[in-house]
Amino acid sequence: MSNDASKSRRTFLRGAALTLAIAPVAGVSFTGGRRALAEDRPKAEDDHAHDYVNDASDAADHELYEEGQLCENCVFWDGEVENGWGGCNHPDFLDVLVNAEGWCDAYAPAG
Ligand code: SF4
Repeated sequence: MSNDASKSRRTFLRGAALTLAIAPVAGVSFTGGRRALAEDRPKAEDDHAHDYVNDASDAADHELYEEGQLCENCVFWDGEVENGWGGCNHPDFLDVLVNAEGWCDAYAPAG
């Protein structure tokens, strides 16, 4: 490999590493390129997908719901963005914010 090609490759790799390091701070996730910037995502409404509700207590009569299950302790929860609303890494919720106190039937416990 020539010196120019080697230098170009190093520059590219350095840029790619920097982009990946900055992305979480900028609110960008690399999930198939489908996710909008955090501040551009609307808040999910009830029934967005998977019987989602913004208040988990509204799912009390759902056959899959168990007390204590909340978006904020779900494996898909991606952290709060603002005022109790945050990202969800489930493919059907990538373009919306979900409520930390919400729930859907795709819930899976974190940890
Ligand atoms: S997958 Fe988890 S975090 Fe996402 S909406 Fe459903 S319960 Fe909430």
